[in-house]
Amino acid sequence: MEHYQLFINNQWVDPNSGRWFDSLDPFTGEPWAKIPEGDSTDVNRAVEAAAAAFEGPWAALSPTERGAILYKMGTLIERDAQRIADAESRDNGKVMSEVFGQVKYTAKYFYYYGGLADKIHGSVVPMDKPKVFNMIRYEPMGVVASITPWNSSLLLSAWKIAPALAAGNTIVCKPSEFTSVSLYELAKLAEEAGMPPGVFNVISGFGADVGEPLIRHPKVARIAFTGGDEAGRRVYMTAAENFKRVSLELGGKSPNIVFDDADLEKAANGVITGIFSAGGQTCMAGSRLLLQESIHDEFVERLLAIARKAKAGDPSDKSTEVGPIATRPQFEKIMKYIDIAKSEGARCVAGGRALTGAGYGCGQFVEPTIFVDVTNDMRIAQEEVFGPVLSVLKFKDEADALRIANDTRFGLAAGVWTRSLHRTMFMTERLRAGTVWVNNYRSTSFTTPFGGYKDSGVGREGGMDSIKEYMEAKSVWISTDLDMPNPFVRKY
Ligand code: NAD
Repeated sequence: MEHYQLFINNQWVDPNSGRWFDSLDPFTGEPWAKIPEGDSTDVNRAVEAAAAAFEGPWAALSPTERGAILYKMGTLIERDAQRIADAESRDNGKVMSEVFGQVKYTAKYFYYYGGLADKIHGSVVPMDKPKVFNMIRYEPMGVVASITPWNSSLLLSAWKIAPALAAGNTIVCKPSEFTSVSLYELAKLAEEAGMPPGVFNVISGFGADVGEPLIRHPKVARIAFTGGDEAGRRVYMTAAENFKRVSLELGGKSPNIVFDDADLEKAANGVITGIFSAGGQTCMAGSRLLLQESIHDEFVERLLAIARKAKAGDPSDKSTEVGPIATRPQFEKIMKYIDIAKSEGARCVAGGRALTGAGYGCGQFVEPTIFVDVTNDMRIAQEEVFGPVLSVLKFKDEADALRIANDTRFGLAAGVWTRSLHRTMFMTERLRAGTVWVNNYRSTSFTTPFGGYKDSGVGREGGMDSIKEYMEAKSVWISTDLDMPNPFVRKY
């Protein structure tokens, strides 16, 4: 059994509560790691340490030196990718073939933002007034709080840690209570990379005990949250009480739209990847498939042929394609949505059951599930399931596809499959989503922003511009004419 401590000010310390909780392996159902249960006292210690580091050792380094430490962290993540991937997979059940690549890719966020640290230029502004010089400086905000969910604990934290630290901030990370281990493993690497004390801190625990006190702490300037919209709304409202800067990456019900002129083989692979990778437990899952009427039956047959071959089982086995659902409550939620879809009149043509018995560990598996005859007013088409459940809807033409695709409170992502330039431009201009993929799905990169329209969130992560979301712009006015007129001497 692994045993962890909190990471505060580069020290491994016991939680104030004196309590630890178990992290369960979703495949075996057995506890495999002891996670420290943080509380507001621990939060206070971590934020004070981060605030001191912000004014002290971190500020004393040049942006180039800070970037070098981040770059070094990237190299260490690559070196230890297998060990971290093992831990992440034991925490969230993600299959090794996927999680190993994801951990390796996490390193690139540290390379990219490490490299960017000394390239954030201010500017000199041409003024409309005489004898004055104006410049814009970009300055770090202070202590950042990172709060993340269980589906991609390390990667989604890196989306926040790397730009926040590159911008000159310090950070306190609160990973999901279900998947804390990879952040503690990252803390070991931060230490090894030469991160000064207090710059990077990790406090595990529950939303109410650690997340809320972090958001409320007067010395936390900026909150970077990824998670569900219920917690996200609460985070936003709490943060608003003190006008804190916030970014929210929330849920989705993303449409994957296949036109009749698409390369159907590629589209079928893209649709399957979009919904069944990570067991559908991704914010960007393409959970609504919109099919043009004329290709509906043929395309569904293609999907069934691929879905039937998926190999479910032990996620640590490199040949496994479908892993267990990450948590027992999530497994139960998915099964409930399958019942809801059936009761609404959707027709289940693949899956629909839990997988139990030999090879399926504690039985926390859901078969890749496909529902046809779905209409967009059904709950299965409107609510985020966060599981391997695909809803198939029909459309007539571009306008119809667009109407259905945008008829959702979410706006995280969308996919379009077509060979037509006209359709590509028509759809990409009008889809109300933060990411639109054409003839591909589920690609992400540190080089380009990711985030949501509508209820899918606030702000963007990734790309050069997103680093400014961790900075304040300061407008500096310097008079070149020292003769300041007396305001009380009227000229009229
Ligand atoms: P969740 O909202 O339950 O929890 C997310 C984090 O918030 C956890 O660390 C949790 O402890 C914390 N938290 C909960 N209540 C809190 C509170 N009141 N104050 C502060 N912190 C609090 O989400 P989850 O179940 O862990 O993850 C699944 C959700 O995350 C899905 O809705 C999914 O769409 C979303 N998600 C979004 C993205 C994205 O980039 N848009 C990526 C991955 C997951």
